[in-house]
Amino acid sequence: MPAIDLEALQRFGFTHHAVTPAAALPDSLWLGSRRDHGSVVALAAAGPQFWRGVDHNAAHPVDEHAKRCTQAALPTAHLWYPGDCPLILQRLMQHVGWSGLPGPFGMGLHPQYGSWIAVRAVAWMPEATAAATTASPLSPQPVNSPCTHCPAPCLDACPAQALSADTAPDLHACAQHRCTEASSCAEQCLARNACPVGVEYRYDAAQTAHHYRYALPSIRAWLIGHD
Ligand code: SF4
Ligand code: SF4
Repeated sequence: MPAIDLEALQRFGFTHHAVTPAAALPDSLWLGSRRDHGSVVALAAAGPQFWRGVDHNAAHPVDEHAKRCTQAALPTAHLWYPGDCPLILQRLMQHVGWSGLPGPFGMGLHPQYGSWIAVRAVAWMPEATAAATTASPLSPQPVNSPCTHCPAPCLDACPAQALSADTAPDLHACAQHRCTEASSCAEQCLARNACPVGVEYRYDAAQTAHHYRYALPSIRAWLIGHD
């Protein structure tokens, strides 16, 4: 079992960790060639605590904080994410029980934390683990999506009418709205904000604005190729 400083992880704002033998991860999680030895450690943060510990003057505050803290808590680990992670993060979240299948606005939801939980770091360690371990608070797998029995207020909250209960979001309509001048979705997703699940874990407004602003240039570039 790799040495993991759990107290340090909690101090840094990580709320969840999962450790699994790399060989136990299914093919569907891997982007390229899989790694069949050693252990994969995933670290997630639910709620606003992680953001409150970042250096707000850093160029990439969340990623830099995640890197620094992971290296401090797992000094022998090879950091995969932030970086070119060979694993698909959304599927990893589902695999370890941190989210269900994607809901109407495209994010998987945790029954307690809603959409306000995210993987912040993934590392690989050469040491073997005898079995997969996960740390509380953790739901049993697979997570049942809270969307199943929800009246879906997220649908009406979307000003671009880009969402439906049965199909994937209309990414083009969403992107167009987000890139309009003074868009109401430049720094937030109004549908996400309307979701009642996990409201008490909602990120600080500054964190939400950071994540959504950060994505805007690539959304603009994507739109140019799809208009
Ligand atoms: S508002 Fe309801 S349907 Fe929409 S994402 Fe939240 S739980 Fe799912
Ligand atoms: S970001 Fe705005 S336009 Fe896009 S899905 Fe969310 S509410 Fe709709």
